[in-house]
Amino acid sequence: MLITNATLVTWGATRRILENHALYIEGDRIVDLGLSSELQAKYPRAAALDARGQYVMPGNICAHTHFYGAFARGMAIPGDPPKDFPEILERLWWKLDKALTLDDVRYSALVCLIDAIKHGTTTLIDHHASPNAIDGSLDVIAEAVQQAGLRACLCYEVTDRDGPEKAKAGIEENLRFIKSRISNPQSRIAGTFGLHASLTLSDATLEECRAAHDARHYGFHIHAAEHEADQYDSLKKSGMRVINRLNKFGVLGPRSIVAHAVHIDPREAELLGETGTWVTHQPRSNMNNAVGVADVEGLLRVGVKVGLGNDGFSNAMWDEWKAAYLHHKAARRDPRRMSGATVAEMAVTNNAALANVFFPEAPIGVLVPGAFADIIFVDYHPATPMTVDNLPWHILFGFENSMVTGAICAGKVLMKDRRLLFLDEAEIAARSRGLAKKAWGRIGA
Ligand SMILES: [Zn+2]
Repeated sequence: MLITNATLVTWGATRRILENHALYIEGDRIVDLGLSSELQAKYPRAAALDARGQYVMPGNICAHTHFYGAFARGMAIPGDPPKDFPEILERLWWKLDKALTLDDVRYSALVCLIDAIKHGTTTLIDHHASPNAIDGSLDVIAEAVQQAGLRACLCYEVTDRDGPEKAKAGIEENLRFIKSRISNPQSRIAGTFGLHASLTLSDATLEECRAAHDARHYGFHIHAAEHEADQYDSLKKSGMRVINRLNKFGVLGPRSIVAHAVHIDPREAELLGETGTWVTHQPRSNMNNAVGVADVEGLLRVGVKVGLGNDGFSNAMWDEWKAAYLHHKAARRDPRRMSGATVAEMAVTNNAALANVFFPEAPIGVLVPGAFADIIFVDYHPATPMTVDNLPWHILFGFENSMVTGAICAGKVLMKDRRLLFLDEAEIAARSRGLAKKAWGRIGA
């Protein structure tokens, strides 16, 4: 396939904006890149896709999400509003996840995947919980991802909050799924080992996870220090702070993701850097749960690799960019905080490197020959000059998610001229509404 008449935004180490260019795609990879006229002459028989001057750029990547959270949209929590994050967990998330069936898991994933395609996100790293439908839940999500055509890394969150049998079932679900992924490394779907958070994991379960885990192939994906409660709990259980406790059980490392890290101290930050652990930042979620402001600029300064996730908010990643940009300025009362370049460092550079941990066969998040053909089309007409230097600010102040008109993942066109080619949005949304209504009924919401 030859994408012609495009303005390419390449990202990558040598960022370029290239007008009147074309991309030649074969299989799931970008093979060639050059002037439209030259590539049209070089590949005369290739099926052409005319970009009509639109921006063509790598698809966005989400470093931490929860597809199952889709069913929380519009759900009323009975009683007074929760007063803090531990109450939000107990009264919303831990009620919702217990109510989910495998059908609910499938449809909550599908609605998120549609949202992702429509808004230009082609790779997602998910963290799943459905304590009354654990076995096979990752296969169900994988089928939805397969159907949608996107790229995703999946895991099941192991926790002790529902008793030892369900903790064991969670461990088994991760191991079974990861094994199936290791034997199929060319797939768009990868697996890692999920853990909920230090505050719902006993030493015995963490030890079991460490013993079962094979660091040669995968890491862990866990929430850490999202709220002070995680630190108080860890100090009480172990006399150690959360990051130190996780390190003791081998949870940290260059394939592991720690989501949030809002309430960590300088030594914990160093430990994350020393172990090469990834941290993901989710400003919309942090604001919504009122858990505080993660010092992500400080983490980046000490060499921690910080990426940008959405924690189950919309899969429109430019909304997360905008939240990150504003959140730190507002919280610190300093307009110099969190520059557009820092947002792009997290959302583009670091997220691409993190995605490569799970999909190592080819570069990702960059338009170069040899890279995965994960590409979006953006119908943006800048009213001021746009350069590689001011590009992040054009995205922050000019780009809208509604400008995404097309999406390609692994060389397959998933959306063209805003039309989804493989998913029936109305039908999936209708089915999802019916299932969500029943799930809410089981919770009493
Ligand atoms: Zn999360």
